[in-house]
Amino acid sequence: MASSQPRIPVGISACLMGMEVRHDKGHKHSRYCTDTLAHYFQFRSLCPEMGAGLSAPRKAMRLVERDGGVRLVTTDGRRDHSALMQDFIDRALPGLVDLRGFILMAKSPSCGMERVRVYKPDGDVLHRDAAGLFAAALQARYPLMPVEEEGRLNDDSLRENFVERVFLYDDWCQLVASGLTAGALIDFHSRHKFQLLAHCQRTYRQLGPLLSDLKSRPLDAIADDYIHAFMAAMKQRVSRGAHVNTLQHLAGFLRHELSDTDRHLINEQIEAYRREEVPLIVPMTLLRGGLRKVQQPYLEKQGYLSPYPDALGLRNRV
Ligand code: SF4
Repeated sequence: MASSQPRIPVGISACLMGMEVRHDKGHKHSRYCTDTLAHYFQFRSLCPEMGAGLSAPRKAMRLVERDGGVRLVTTDGRRDHSALMQDFIDRALPGLVDLRGFILMAKSPSCGMERVRVYKPDGDVLHRDAAGLFAAALQARYPLMPVEEEGRLNDDSLRENFVERVFLYDDWCQLVASGLTAGALIDFHSRHKFQLLAHCQRTYRQLGPLLSDLKSRPLDAIADDYIHAFMAAMKQRVSRGAHVNTLQHLAGFLRHELSDTDRHLINEQIEAYRREEVPLIVPMTLLRGGLRKVQQPYLEKQGYLSPYPDALGLRNRV
């Protein structure tokens, strides 16, 4: 289903869009990206290896540690393309500042986000926990940007987590673009505090006090500390128990305002969610219905209740 909202700019490895840019001139088309997420994300595709000036087809490459550094080398060991790749990275990264997320192709020595193999010069595997050269540089330059591998999007909770973080990061970037003020920072926190509570209670307890005295330091510095801690916390998966806790917290605001029947129904479905009998969307929908009846502006604006378009169906699966 198409969205009437402007689509959010998100980067993607070009082979995932179906472009024949892999070393064997093949692709790794992700239907989920092009058929579902593309309704909400304005994908900007790039292939670091093609961008570095290589052709398709080309010799397969891998990461090799030698001379104290990690190099991008053809599997036959004859060509070292590290300098070409570094040149591409230096040229490309500044132009990615407007992206609100990036979906990468796994295992690639250029695009892999994690668990990429690094070889010794003799061909043995040295370790398996590197990132591809482009992926590492992307994450170092834009540490707040949500980055995920396409294969991990098959996991319901990782997919939900990534999409939620893209929408949050977009909200933050819009705040910064329209001018950081104390009021805007407090409003952001107020809108997203229950998402934070669900993801990480410890960070939730830290960030409230951080914003309690906005005159203690320059606002830019406080905002920087805030958003780095916030986005790091949002990477944590939300457990079923944490969702139950957050739902009960929100339902508590309505305890004097809803009828016994409505309150009972909401609590019953929160418990059914705890027992894994219904997905998260069920108690969430009831809670939103209850809020509509009592018109609580503070609760209505909570991002936790609608972190992304319902049509994505993500909360039907967690
Ligand atoms: S994984 Fe990255 S470098 Fe390899 S073909 Fe896909 S986009 Fe290009």
